[in-house]
Amino acid sequence: MKYFLSFSLLFLTLVLSAQSAYHQCGVNHEMDAQIKERLLANREWAANNVVPRMDEIYVPLNFWRVGFDDGTGKIRITDILDQLCKLNQDYSDTRFIFYLNSILELDNENAFLEPTSFGAILNAQKNNQGADGINIFVCQNAGTGGIGTTLGYYSPNFDFIVLRKQELPAPTSETLTHELGHFLSLPHPFFGWEGQPYDPDIHGNPCTVNTAELVNGNNCNFAGDGICDTPPDYLFAFSPMSCVSGCNFECEIYDRNNEQIFPHVENVMSYFAPCAAYEFTTDQETAMYDDHASPSRNYIRSSYVPDTNTVATNWVVNSPTVAQKFDNYNSVLFDWEDMEHASQYLITISGSSNHEIIVDESELFMSDLLPNGFYTFGVRAYNEVSACSVFSPSSNLIFTTGDLETSDDNITEIDHLNIYPNPVKNSSTLTVTLDLNSNIPLTTSIFSTTQATAISIKHNDFHSGLNRMELDIEGLPAGMYLVKFSAGDKHIVKRVVITQ
Ligand SMILES: [Zn+2]
Repeated sequence: MKYFLSFSLLFLTLVLSAQSAYHQCGVNHEMDAQIKERLLANREWAANNVVPRMDEIYVPLNFWRVGFDDGTGKIRITDILDQLCKLNQDYSDTRFIFYLNSILELDNENAFLEPTSFGAILNAQKNNQGADGINIFVCQNAGTGGIGTTLGYYSPNFDFIVLRKQELPAPTSETLTHELGHFLSLPHPFFGWEGQPYDPDIHGNPCTVNTAELVNGNNCNFAGDGICDTPPDYLFAFSPMSCVSGCNFECEIYDRNNEQIFPHVENVMSYFAPCAAYEFTTDQETAMYDDHASPSRNYIRSSYVPDTNTVATNWVVNSPTVAQKFDNYNSVLFDWEDMEHASQYLITISGSSNHEIIVDESELFMSDLLPNGFYTFGVRAYNEVSACSVFSPSSNLIFTTGDLETSDDNITEIDHLNIYPNPVKNSSTLTVTLDLNSNIPLTTSIFSTTQATAISIKHNDFHSGLNRMELDIEGLPAGMYLVKFSAGDKHIVKRVVITQ
């Protein structure tokens, strides 16, 4: 009873004093035991099999944007790119190169708010759409319980990772780096001490716990994390000793052989935080390679080689220009120059309404902006591996929209309008056909997407029925153009690509 009381008091004190100070992962002792079991099985398997050693190991990642039932609350895509960038920096001393296999969506409030209770939902999604990579579910929370705030966890049962949303934007967050260590079979170095961190008043100094890992390495193959080059760690990071603080450990603690313990404070799998940098040990890296090579990891191994070129950053944005005012709001074209080695672009448009859009090409046509809107525009280039580029331009471009609406049925006299060919060569002619239900005067203007003034303006009186008109585009530089048809204050805008 006395023990129970003192333990409860200790626990309460820790919770009260350190709820925000202590950051932990959701891998508890039972989960850690499963991970360690795999580590030991892998070691035996690797000893009895020839394990191919690749210089570069490409690992596919599936990021899940989990949100409320209506799709709100999700992590931003730009934060996922930041996370991928950070992850590859953290693993740059290893052979692992992580690549973006897919970004997947899950609108489920239960999974979003309580992923630990609704793991079966996540697992069903993983089996359904995520069978070809490591699945990382980004939720509002990553569970509660334990001494500190839970930042994320790897589930050995379901074989997926859960991160709480606020871990991703932080450029200093090591959470995914740590959880992927678990995925690749690394237990915590303080395995066995999760329920009660070392306290000299309870465990003695020298430490009297018989099962504790020793400094001399005699029991390192099975005590603690089962990895020999990670020194003993009795969860000192959460120990109630004033000689431990953040990334500093200045305690004189001795094992039961009376040998002083020097834990690996900057180990990725430890709980010491915040440290300026973290690292894996050589044996931890070997354990991760063995896990990746093991039969249970077949599903993340393939001969696929992602594009590892670094995306260029010499940005040229053609549209919008600085403080550009678009007359229309429902037909706005954004355009920028191709960026070398980029496979995709992420566009963010924020302000009167908010949009985050991925496109494959260096342009975006928006038809759902708001009238009289005030917006900022940013574009970011990336490929599967290279995700470190930032938005361009560095300070977002501001633009506004007018209240003019363009649509095919806005000019009611026009039943049908067609422009061809499209794309069109600048040595040929652009033809417009108009099917009208009454006579109408029409003004046709051609705009470059980079200039506010029209390149050419043509006035015609058209008659009811089928009409045909030719537009002179000879010599115009290759690029994206808008052809605008106006009748009074009504407009129709069509996009045309002119090539050389
Ligand atoms: Zn952990």
